[in-house]
Amino acid sequence: MNSHNKKRPNLLFIMSDDHSANAISTYNDQLIETPNIDRIADDGMRLDHVYCTNSLCAPSRATILTGNYSHENGVRGLSEHFDGSQQTFPKLMQADGYQTAIIGKWHLGHGDKSDPTGFDYWTVFPDQGDYYDPEMIEMGESKVVEGYATDIITDKSEEWLDNRDEDKPFMLMVHHKAPHRPWHPPEKYKDLFNHHDIPIPDTFHDSYQQSNAAKNADMRIEDLKEEDVKQKVPDGLSSQEVKEWKFQRYMKDYLGCVKSIDDNVGRLLDYLDKNHLTEHTIIVYTSDQGFFLGDHGWYDKRFMYEESLQMPFVIRYPKEIQPATVCKEMIINNDFAPTFLDFAGIKVEEPMQGESFRHLLQGKKTGQWRDAIYYRYFEHLTIHNVPAHYGIRTNRYKLIYYYGEPLDVIGAVKKPTTPEWELFDMERDPYELTNEYNNPNYENVIIELKNKLQNVKDYYNDHN
Ligand code: CA
Repeated sequence: MNSHNKKRPNLLFIMSDDHSANAISTYNDQLIETPNIDRIADDGMRLDHVYCTNSLCAPSRATILTGNYSHENGVRGLSEHFDGSQQTFPKLMQADGYQTAIIGKWHLGHGDKSDPTGFDYWTVFPDQGDYYDPEMIEMGESKVVEGYATDIITDKSEEWLDNRDEDKPFMLMVHHKAPHRPWHPPEKYKDLFNHHDIPIPDTFHDSYQQSNAAKNADMRIEDLKEEDVKQKVPDGLSSQEVKEWKFQRYMKDYLGCVKSIDDNVGRLLDYLDKNHLTEHTIIVYTSDQGFFLGDHGWYDKRFMYEESLQMPFVIRYPKEIQPATVCKEMIINNDFAPTFLDFAGIKVEEPMQGESFRHLLQGKKTGQWRDAIYYRYFEHLTIHNVPAHYGIRTNRYKLIYYYGEPLDVIGAVKKPTTPEWELFDMERDPYELTNEYNNPNYENVIIELKNKLQNVKDYYNDHN
């Protein structure tokens, strides 16, 4: 290995799909044990305030690759395909001597312009992909692979690592499809939670006084379909009992998928140990956004509410990150790319909208870190009837504006809604149940937050 490469860490980036931090035991030990994901946090750092700037699969992926907001990278919703000719962190790493690969979920479109770029090797699902015997597109060629998706992705990752050039550092993106809807656990975990009652979250019975946006959202647990819960609802249950029965069925399948992810994270950790790569490899576990696990009586994401906004994020790199540390600063998914490039010692050609948080991982505080994050969801009313909105979150408050228009976003429903605002005081109301927007006590807070919101919009060049 030449001396330049010797100094540069490998990056193993493991990302699942729709995995709420609440279903990882280092964040919350009430739902499931995830010893392997926890191992990353125990040997490294757990980040408690990492946020997705547009809580949907494809937009989050485009932001992670480019370091830019949806309005800059062109993927504002699920139907807008990624233009692979733009600058991404895998491309910059590949050009600078890293071996790069992506295995698993891509979900940014296919064809000339949208196939993965910046990767020496890629094998990905078409769109969402299947849990069992999935079709995969390997460097442009389609084939069906037998087995369970989460296991297959790990098998292929190990295979690629086995065959890599050991003289060069690597950057591998392991992208699980699980635990995304339709929540099919592997055969061996189908009955794993059968004898447990999953605890109901505190906001399960939310009566949606916050806004019309919350009231009209179409993602309530009681509306899960038979194909989602995979069994016929028993006869003779009251509407409340049906809601609780569906919650149990939904969560047991979801957690079975998570258990399998955790096993497979363990396999890759063991692989690093066995091959003496642990010291030289940054390993990250995250998810493309959060998810409602019955919180507010919902499944799905999209909203700027905390359970959907927050991404789990644990990271280990023994050379720079102290074990069992926790970071409470506000980080956004735009920051991932600049951080990884910083670790690799690569200069970004065109500036990205995120910032490197390497110093925070090292436990240093500069006093200059951001005091607010900007969020924007564009897919007005699509599928789950959530109106488009933008907003900011500070350490204490969250201000959200549902502006009520589809604009020119592909896939958005062309039906305006009445604009409305929400203000949450996260210190008094961490579950975001009480909208304080019309409370006169918050008048000055609102003026200040609106100024801040305008400033961040200007800063990120989002003028619509
Ligand atoms: Ca997702």
